[in-house]
Amino acid sequence: MSKKVEVLGVEFDHTTKTETIQMLTKRLKARKKTFVVTANPEIVMYAQRDPEYKKIVQSADYIIPDGIGIIMGAKMLNNPLPERIPGFELMKDLLDVADREQLKVFFLGAKEQVLHKAINNIQQDYPGIHIAGYHHGFFKGNDPDIAKMVQAANPDMVFVALGFPRQEQWISQNSHLFSKGLFMGVGGSFDVLSGKVKRAPAIWRKLNMEWLYRLIKQPHRWKRMAFLPLFMLKVLRTK
Ligand code: UDP
Repeated sequence: MSKKVEVLGVEFDHTTKTETIQMLTKRLKARKKTFVVTANPEIVMYAQRDPEYKKIVQSADYIIPDGIGIIMGAKMLNNPLPERIPGFELMKDLLDVADREQLKVFFLGAKEQVLHKAINNIQQDYPGIHIAGYHHGFFKGNDPDIAKMVQAANPDMVFVALGFPRQEQWISQNSHLFSKGLFMGVGGSFDVLSGKVKRAPAIWRKLNMEWLYRLIKQPHRWKRMAFLPLFMLKVLRTK
């Protein structure tokens, strides 16, 4: 287990993307059930308001810093984390592992059409992956039939793209149905895999300005980003 770095009550793993992939690959090979949360400032803030959700996040095997806000927060607390690990990149690296190892992957979430396009692209780009199954994310509550469908597919990896908090809640509520598998909430990643939403060009990402690019491309997200200064302030107060 790696060293932990606490930011507003959420304990992040002190790890790089390369180390994380190595650890996760080991666990996949050992068929160890694994829950990964890629937490951004929004998730950390939400966990502060919802103790049940916080428990779910804390129950994960790995909590990965997704977003420059977490890196800045940890630095302000004089307990820096090595690097930002975008959830989308972690998912792509895991898809590479699945491709290489010919693993079974289940995709749960996003709109039906978006999901179908994403699945087509995945089949082309990762021919070694066995698509264990997929289902859109617009179902009510924790539909037991859907959980059973995922269970019956016996997947090695399950990507849950329902947005937070629902994706982590889904994983936590259904984890007991599985004896193996890597489970990870991936937010809007299927929208990117489908080609519907574009990621920021490399230079923006390198400058840690991915958030600004997203804001320009999807201005409706401004409300969700407006809390970032609030997050920073909260972190400062805990100093
Ligand atoms: N979504 C879903 N079911 C719902 C609500 C959302 O499958 O009931 C999907 C939505 O289509 C999108 C993803 O969940 O693909 C959430 O994306 P968002 O950009 O909100 O998440 P973020 O990446 O910001 O966490």
